[in-house]
Amino acid sequence: MTPNDVIPLHLADVTYPAQHPLAGQTGVVLAFAIRHPAGIVLVDTGVGAGNDWVDESYRPVRRDIRDALTAADLEPEDVRAIVNTHLHFDHCGQNRAFPGVPVVTQRRELDAAREPGHTIGEWVDFPGVAHAPVDGDGEIADGVSVLATPGHTVGHQSVTVRTGDGLVLIVGQAAQDARSFATGEADASVRRLRELNADRIHFSHDRAVLRRR
Ligand SMILES: [Zn+2]
Ligand SMILES: [Zn+2]
Repeated sequence: MTPNDVIPLHLADVTYPAQHPLAGQTGVVLAFAIRHPAGIVLVDTGVGAGNDWVDESYRPVRRDIRDALTAADLEPEDVRAIVNTHLHFDHCGQNRAFPGVPVVTQRRELDAAREPGHTIGEWVDFPGVAHAPVDGDGEIADGVSVLATPGHTVGHQSVTVRTGDGLVLIVGQAAQDARSFATGEADASVRRLRELNADRIHFSHDRAVLRRR
């Protein structure tokens, strides 16, 4: 088994509402499982259930994260940490499936999420939640690091993973898709991520995977 493998989990499809820049289009919502010797590190948890505004606005077709892990031959009880790239509803929605598991977010993002309009509050703060906020960059497990990449939200973060197969970068939503990451106009966060020259690059809302040539 390759240490620190990164496995994409397709957790939802959404239809963007009228006021959204991508109105009418459907989009994928991906999370990632990092298979680490110390246990599984989840990066994001998809869309939650039971919120009328989300259901009516985005018409999500959801997949239970525990089922997705099991289907990927991973044991949900092995989840040791959750990293949220940011706290929009489509990234933290199933954190509640893992009470007591540390949730690593940027402190600025957690603060923003407690203001009205940022996200679904009960998907961030729920009984048994174990917030583990960080400030800026840091290694959170051997070979697994978070990088502060503000822009999409004030406290957005991306994740790098040293694997037996090179450096894997999980951009999150610092770029909307692979094309804009590779060729679009880049803000400071995207420039920084490009400079990592990662071997494999994943996105929250694009199934495409960029590979270093
Ligand atoms: Zn977002
Ligand atoms: Zn998103």
